[in-house]
Parts: sequence; C-alpha cells; structure tokens
Amino acid sequence: MNTSIIGYPRIGGLRELKFASEKYFRGEIDQAELEKVAKQIRLYDLDLQKKSGLDFIPSNDFSYYDGVLDTAFLLNAVPERYTSLGLSPLDTFFAAARGYQGEKGDVKALAMKKWFNTNYHYIVPEIDDAADIKLAGTKPFDLFNEALENGVKTKPVIVGAYTFLKLARYIGKKTAADFVDAAAAAYSEILKKFADLGAEWVQFDEPSLVMDMTAEDKKLFVSLYEKILSAKGSVKVLAQTYFGDVRDVYTELTSLAFDGIGLDFVEGKKSLELVRANGFPKDKILFAGLVNGKNIWKCSYEKVLANLEILKANAGEIVINTSCSLQHVPVTLANESKLPENVKKHFAFAEEKLAEIAELKKITSADAPEKTEEYLANKALHSEVRSGANDEVRAKVAKLTDKDFTRLPAFAEREKVQKERFKLPLFPTTTIGSFPQTADVKGARKDLRTGNITNDEYETFMKKKIAECVALQEEIGLDVLVHGEFERNDMVEYFGECLDGYIFTEKAWVQSYGTRCVKPPVVWGDISRAKPMTVKWSVYAQSLTSKPMKGMLTGPVTILNWSFPREDISLKESALQIALAIREEVLDLEANGISIIQVDEAALREKLPLRRADWREDYLDWAIPAFRYVHSGVRPETQIHTHMCYSEFADIIKDIDNMDADVITFEASRSDLTILDVLKENNFRTEVGPGVYDIHSPRVPSKEEIKAAVAKMLDRIPAEKLWVNPDCGLKTRGTKETVPSLTNLVNAAKEARNENS
Ligand code: GLN
Ligand code: ZN
Repeated sequence: MNTSIIGYPRIGGLRELKFASEKYFRGEIDQAELEKVAKQIRLYDLDLQKKSGLDFIPSNDFSYYDGVLDTAFLLNAVPERYTSLGLSPLDTFFAAARGYQGEKGDVKALAMKKWFNTNYHYIVPEIDDAADIKLAGTKPFDLFNEALENGVKTKPVIVGAYTFLKLARYIGKKTAADFVDAAAAAYSEILKKFADLGAEWVQFDEPSLVMDMTAEDKKLFVSLYEKILSAKGSVKVLAQTYFGDVRDVYTELTSLAFDGIGLDFVEGKKSLELVRANGFPKDKILFAGLVNGKNIWKCSYEKVLANLEILKANAGEIVINTSCSLQHVPVTLANESKLPENVKKHFAFAEEKLAEIAELKKITSADAPEKTEEYLANKALHSEVRSGANDEVRAKVAKLTDKDFTRLPAFAEREKVQKERFKLPLFPTTTIGSFPQTADVKGARKDLRTGNITNDEYETFMKKKIAECVALQEEIGLDVLVHGEFERNDMVEYFGECLDGYIFTEKAWVQSYGTRCVKPPVVWGDISRAKPMTVKWSVYAQSLTSKPMKGMLTGPVTILNWSFPREDISLKESALQIALAIREEVLDLEANGISIIQVDEAALREKLPLRRADWREDYLDWAIPAFRYVHSGVRPETQIHTHMCYSEFADIIKDIDNMDADVITFEASRSDLTILDVLKENNFRTEVGPGVYDIHSPRVPSKEEIKAAVAKMLDRIPAEKLWVNPDCGLKTRGTKETVPSLTNLVNAAKEARNENS
C-alpha cells in the first residue's frame, strides 16, 4: 500500500523560520539570508520524508506566512493597496500579511481568521469587483522544481478553487459565483504547467467541503471542477478534504473526474459510513486519512487495520494518509530532553508520524499483518496501563447529576442579593484581569525558573507588583479590582502547571499564525488540583483594599481547548475533570474571603463543531455544563464573572446565557457592537460588559469615544445590567497607554452615571 501525507510543518524543528523571519522584519538580515534558511528547512524535511519511504511527498506546503495568502498571490487576488506600495514581491506579501508602515505608505494587514477547527489562523483574501483572477505566480512550480532537482518528484499542494473562493471576503457586489470562470481557467493553467514540468499528481486542498453546504455551494463546487477537470491533461488530481466528513457532497465529489479523493477517517464522523453506504469508485484512488494529523499520540495500528478492512471491501486502490496536514502538530520529539521515556514512547510528532506511516506500509504489505513485530509492539503500547489514573476523580465525575450543574437560587434572586451586598454604582467599572507584563515581571518569572532568585525574593517582588497595581486602580477609581496576573506566563500553562495530570514539553511548538507559535500542554492523565493555584495572590491583593478584588481563573473548556487532549477518554470526561479542579479553587477563593470570582472562557466559541448538526451533542451539551459545575457550589452572594475573547456568539446566545454566570465581559469594540442587538432580541439575562475599547491597539481611546460606546450600549442593554470595561486583558499593553485609557474609561462611566441617575 502506498503512503502519503497532506503537508508538513514549515517552521523548522527549532522554529528557525520564525527567528529568521523576525530578523528579516527587523532589517537584521536580507531576503537572500531569509531564503537560505527557508530552503534549508525545506530540503531537510524533503530528505527526511524521502528517507522515511513516503510515496507521496508534498511540496508547496511551505509558506513564508500562510498558504491561503500564497494562493491569493498565485491567483492575482491581492488588493491594490498592497501592490501599489511599490515594494518587492516578498515585502508586498508581508505587507498583506502583517500590514506596512513606512516611507512607502501606511496600510493595515488583511484580516486573519481561524483555520476551521484548529488553532492555526489564515489570512482572509479580499476580492473586489475589479479583481482579475488569473495565474500570476510561480511559487508552486519553483518549489516543485527545487524538490525535483533534489531527487524527489513531489505532489504539489495548493488550496483548491472552491475553498479559496469560499474563504475569500467579497468587498463589492460580486460573489464567488462571479469568479468561477476566471478561477477555473487559472487552476486549469496550474495543472497544465505541472503537466509540462512532469508532475504526476497535484493535490487541491478542499477542507471547505466538510462544512455545511447549501445547494448553491454544491453548484459552485461542481461548476468549478467540471471546468477545471475537463482540461486536466496528463496530470492526476487529488481532491483532499480534512477536518470532517463530506456528507453533503459525497455523491458529487465521487462523480467528478478526480483521480484521487482524500477523506478524513479521524475527524470525519460519517466518512466510513459514507464509503460503506455509497461505495467508492474503483477507478479512483482513496487517500485514506487514518493517522491523526492533529494530535500528538501514537496511532493505534489495530484501529487503522480495522478501518482498512472496511475500506478495502468498498474501494479499489487505497493510499494510507494522515487525516490533515501535520502542520498542526509539533515538528519532532528529538528536542525533548526532559520527557521521561515512558511518556515519550506514547507520543508521535510530525517526524515520528512519518515513521508510523512507514511501519503501516510495512505491516499492510505483510502476509499476516497482525503477526508483524511492529504491529505487536504498537498493540502492546496501547494496552499498557498508563500512569496518571486517578480513581477518585473518575468516581466523582461519574457521580455528577443534573443537580450538580445547577446553581441555586436562580439568577434573578442572586442578582438582587448581590446588588444589596456590593452596592456598586451604576455602570460599575472593572478590567479583564491582567495588567501590562513589563520586562521586570517577565524577568522575575525567568529568574525564579533559572534559580537566579529565591522563592522568597520572587514572592516579595510579586507582592510589590500587586500592591502597585491595586494602588493604581484605586487611584484611577475603578470599582472592582484585579491583582494583575503578574505570576502568569499564560492563562492555560499557569493552571496546567498547578494541576496533576498535565505534561509540558520544551520545544513542541505549533504555528498559530505567521511567526507566532504556541506550545500547548498535554493532558496526560486524570486531572486533579495538586494545590491551591491562585488563592495566595488573590487574598493578598484583597488585603490591600476595601473594594472587591476579583479572583481570576481560567475555565475548564478553555484549558482543554488550548491543550493536546487525550484520546483514550472523551473530551467531555476531561472537561469535567478539569471542572472539578477549578471548582475546588473557586470554593477555596470563596472560603478565603474573595467575593467576586472570574472564570475566563476565552476559547469557548473556538471549538464549536464545524457543522451545526454537531454543535449540541458533540460540544455544547458538555461544555456548558462543565462551566456551570465550576461555580454551582458558591453562595448566592458570591458573584461569578466570565470573559470571552470575541463576540461571535450570536448563534449560541442562549447557551452563553445558560452558563449562568452573573456577569460576562467580552470583546465588542471591533465587531461594531452588532452583538448588542442579539443580546436585546434574546432578552439576555446575564449582566454584561461589552468591551468599550480595543486593547489590541496601543491607541488611547478618548473619554468621549468611550461615552459614545456606552450610550450605544444603553440603547440595547438595561442600565442596571451594564458594566464598563476594556475588551480583554491588558498584559500585552504598555503602562504608558494603559493608565490614560483606564482613566478615560472611569471618567466616561462616571459621567454616564450622572446623566442616567
Ligand atoms: N484574564 C485574562 C487576562 O486578562 C483573560 C485573557 C484572555 O481573555 N485571553 O489576561
Ligand atoms: Zn479576552
């Protein structure tokens, strides 16, 4: 059986591309130098893949920033404001990706959006009515030739026409349908060029096919590919889908003249069923996504073989493939020096997945696959009882009933009790939690890690920072204070480190966007709270002020969503385990005199399933209860806040209300406050603090501007439910803009208060 991967990480094992790119941005190296680093990474990876015995090796999966943006440049779909700057092609590309501010002009970057259900972000192409879509670049051909010169005939990878047109933003009157002919012509030319270069296969990535599709979408897809495939010549075309199943277009997809179709059997709940029920055309190759490209666990060969049995009964030639590009897992385990062997042996990052695929090739070509050494070793590994089981936690989760997810008394009564207790003014002011993480703060955390300062010295320093932060907030006149979160590197990692069951890597970076990488921790075993995590800091901060001090926690769904999850238990089970631990912290804070506790669910919206039909059962049905469990045990007079980093929750507004927090703050300033209408229409019950200014920019909002935002909010939100706050934490901001911004915020709230009472 042949083997394939969809794509490979491009950042380099030690993030070489990131560091080189950032040097280039700072003007420390020139383009030639950056290109050298990029080429080194590509050739190293090519060699690795060749040596592993992989049959279909991808090319053009490399990008200096993002593959969708590459495609926009390839198709001449680049807004004029970038091309007219008169920069070099590479700098024009970076201007679109990151914005440009310099002697040639001042333009913002194109928008960035989450890539389906991953933590990767792509650049959103912008297409206006004058757009002239045509083949305008050479990158895929150059990279194909580069690999060819190095002895490999690769399978070039390009974002497909349908996905490209679906992901683009249309600025004028025209829509995707208006660009079918032009796009089809450009893609046909791409195929022709590849045929001339001697390519055998071209992979078109079409992940948009796993989304809910309307009749119009299907028409768009079919009309594009009828055209593209009618002139494909000698080159074979693979339609590659991932992140789900193609239940809406299976018939169309398998009827078109593709030579290969890639389906995802890991995340595609219905993929197997689709193949079984409809069969798979014998004249096409099935690229079977059986090896999980998104998670870091070793693959179970037993499961792969079982799936292959079913597929073999229904399809002709099958190629063993990953479920999605390996860019969503870290590059290599080779740089992990601290992981114990008994942990490491369960992991497979991108490089190790190549080895797994090679083993699967060997196993499946053996006469008795189940008797091969590799199969038996893999089976033994998967049947091993892993460390980290906690029977007590499991028993507690098993015993949860509806009652545990319900806070009493009901919201309205609590609201009364709390108004009575806190006697906050109208439009109470607060912040989201973190204050600027200045160099001294980061330095102190590092010094503690490296042993440069003692624990006592660290505590003294942190207390000083907290005291300064409290004093500053009192001086500015905020109503509900925070301690500043100086002790936290990251809102998930910090808690992960205080929880049993979590594992941390040293170098397991995954690209999030451009040069930004994240290092998600791994849920290894059952989760429990090893020790109080925040109580000491919050209690100290509260001791310095008579105003309420908010306790600050990260919620279970966000902690889980920003980690590599287990595969041996369900996400629901893990979320409830984390909820148990966070609940203990909530109760501990309450018992220690903290009267307001904020449980951030910054990433709750993020992992909402791609298909609406899966929203409840696969996600909301456990995610919302997990949050509810965290706070259902507190007293009526304890106020629970939550925070979300976006306001794109119009579709799940009832579920957000159902989290049953007392107050929610969220980002609103950048989304033009459209969420306010939704809140009003749905009689949103939770008190709300839609962010009155954008903390992602160093700009200082004026008092008038904030008052105008508050006035707009008052049109839709009852005055007694409205809070006034920035739209996210201030940790990435400087003190310079933070103090005047918050001062203006407080003054705006005070004036609004006077005018409204
Ligand atoms: N409490 C966190 C902070 O202020 C929330 C961060 C977030 O929403 N991403 O930093
Ligand atoms: Zn936020």
